[in-house]
Amino acid sequence: MTASHDAKPALAILGPRDLELGPFAIDEARHDGGPWVNWRMRTDEDGIAWLLLDKKDAGANTLSEAVLGEFDAVLEKLERDRPRGLVIRSGKPGGFIAGADIAQFRGVSDIAQIEMLLARGHAVLDRLDRLPLPTIAVIHGYCLGGGLEVALACDYRIAIDDSSFGFPEVLLGLHPGLGGTARLTRQINPAQAMTMMLTGKTERARRAKALGLVDALTQERHVRAAVKAAVAAELKPAKQGLLGTLMNTGPVRSLLASRMRGEAAKRAPRAHYPAPYALIDLWVEHGGDAAAAQRAEISSFARLLVGDTAQNLVRVFFLRDKLKNLAGGKWAGKRVHVIGAGTMGGDIAAWCAWNGFVVTLGDTSAKAIGGAIKRAAELYGKIGRDDRRRVRDALDRLIPDLKGDGAAAADLIIEAVPENLELKRKIFAGIEPKMKPAAILASNTSSIPLEELREGLPRPERLVGIHFFNPVSRMQLVEIVSHDRVAPEVLADARAFLGRIDRLPAPVKSAPGFLVNRALTPYLLEALLMLDSGMAKEAIDKAAVDFGMPMGPIELADEVGLDICLHVAETLRGSLHRDMPDAPQWLKDKVAKGELGKKTGKGLYDWKDGHAVKSHEDVTPSPDTADRLILPMVDACMTCLREGVVADEQVLDGAMIFATGFAPFRGGPMHYARTRGFADVRDTLKRLAGQYGPRFQPDPGWDASP
Ligand code: NAD
Repeated sequence: MTASHDAKPALAILGPRDLELGPFAIDEARHDGGPWVNWRMRTDEDGIAWLLLDKKDAGANTLSEAVLGEFDAVLEKLERDRPRGLVIRSGKPGGFIAGADIAQFRGVSDIAQIEMLLARGHAVLDRLDRLPLPTIAVIHGYCLGGGLEVALACDYRIAIDDSSFGFPEVLLGLHPGLGGTARLTRQINPAQAMTMMLTGKTERARRAKALGLVDALTQERHVRAAVKAAVAAELKPAKQGLLGTLMNTGPVRSLLASRMRGEAAKRAPRAHYPAPYALIDLWVEHGGDAAAAQRAEISSFARLLVGDTAQNLVRVFFLRDKLKNLAGGKWAGKRVHVIGAGTMGGDIAAWCAWNGFVVTLGDTSAKAIGGAIKRAAELYGKIGRDDRRRVRDALDRLIPDLKGDGAAAADLIIEAVPENLELKRKIFAGIEPKMKPAAILASNTSSIPLEELREGLPRPERLVGIHFFNPVSRMQLVEIVSHDRVAPEVLADARAFLGRIDRLPAPVKSAPGFLVNRALTPYLLEALLMLDSGMAKEAIDKAAVDFGMPMGPIELADEVGLDICLHVAETLRGSLHRDMPDAPQWLKDKVAKGELGKKTGKGLYDWKDGHAVKSHEDVTPSPDTADRLILPMVDACMTCLREGVVADEQVLDGAMIFATGFAPFRGGPMHYARTRGFADVRDTLKRLAGQYGPRFQPDPGWDASP
């Protein structure tokens, strides 16, 4: 089963292709009126049956109840007909099978019902496994989750060079559920099998071959020959080595498992993410007995699936889909011009060039442009290690443009000069007459109201805020900021642009701090006040991490830069009509001294080799520390909803998860508030207001919302 059938970078490069479909021509395969809706079968002149999965009305093959039900009927026919061999292939150009149909997982709560469905699925795959003829999965593109489980139930796996394999269930708070936990640990070295399932990482074809996951690598034109060889038993199947078999013995399993549990605990506590631990337990307890392992897998999967973590992570999967769909429009732009080659502009330009745009990068400082190009080369070196041609092409597309000549040819102009209204206006006034009529003008401002920026522009409808977060290459979310005069098609084009650079858009209205900074600021400020009152910074951070945040607020402030935090806090304080504490004087002094956090090696923490130096003393935060940090952030989210800064709870939750890493297993801040109960959130805020001050006064939205 899979966490995602998204366009992965590897898939994005798969263009139209001709699949070797044996006795089927591809069009014929699509329109063959066989007895099944999702499957087609035909026998070739060698007596080998070719079975194609081409799920009806779907872009990708996923395993649903209907697909598996039909598969069972197909297998029954094969048991009767006994062809010389069976080839299973996907008729979809993108890949083999992307996993389970995740929509089926949503909102399920009946363990017995899930177990029954899983047992049925297991029976189908076992039937495939037992089929008394050579069975061969021919795999192109992705082969994930349930797809890999189908492939593992075949005798042979023949992979096309572009294929990739993985069990991403853990990312949904699950583990494989159709026999994969048992079959994978018997097919390859069990330690490597467990790593694959525990990390959810996808392996490319070549590595899959080295692991023994596939028996042969080939290209489309050799598929028929490879199939014939397999049927004639001339293809040597990959087998688990002696070491692997040894590792599957009881004592070695126990030994390895305790190490695996330790590793898992470093990444995620059992209370928040039970799946890795359940997976390890399955292997330790049943690794030696295939039948027992399957039974245990079914019950473990069902228990995980009804749990809060998996349900919330399934929710996050669909939140991502929702944001992705917002970026689904068509925008034909090819050229981007970026003004300002600093921290943000340089990285935005690099990211756009990496994703196929021709980018001109302007700045008043040649040194800044040079620095940005150097950073781009470093970034490409990291993310493009396996693809030197892509690195070269991206660098070719990233063009230094000291004079700003690129603006006239650009389809999108992104301004990322320092946060100063007059400077930005001056730049707009200079650039606007040069722009192509259909070009979009965007600002990366994080705090200046778009209504002020559009003042004086002859065509304010072409201006939009495209607010990236730092670092651009790692932060998936980008706020698309609207204003009272923007044209709807400009907003749609800006969202579609983000789709093309593989970012997720969150549409927000121009309001102080937009959504993400507005919600993060009270969280960060509260942490500073705690620090001010003498609480250990490690304790403050621990409370947030224990809640499920990827890092604590003190560390985050250092990461973001104390100068930037201070600037955002001061801007918000000036523009929000609510009680907000002033930033402590010592923070202002620190910023004045140039102690800005990670980037200067010293901030609230000292930084060494990119890591905050923390005291190892045992720190236990006081019981209400997490509430004091998290609830003001959740409250600000409610304000943004009530004021219409963001359209709905789903966009809000998605934005907060993909921009701040807000505890994904809690499903987002508003979902967390709903689970906890709005009344409880409001009453706790009131209590905190009584204890610590009016900044905790709850938003009126808690009373009004259902
Ligand atoms: P920066 O100071 O790192 O870079 C600004 C660049 O603009 C500098 O290279 C400077 O030489 C150049 N510049 C100045 N005047 C110019 C002009 N007239 N024409 C062309 N270039 C000029 O700033 P930054 O941190 O990249 O911020 C840029 C914008 O992005 C700001 O609006 C900021 O609020 C926003 N932003 C910053 C962050 C962040 O974390 N740094 C995050 C989101 C948004």
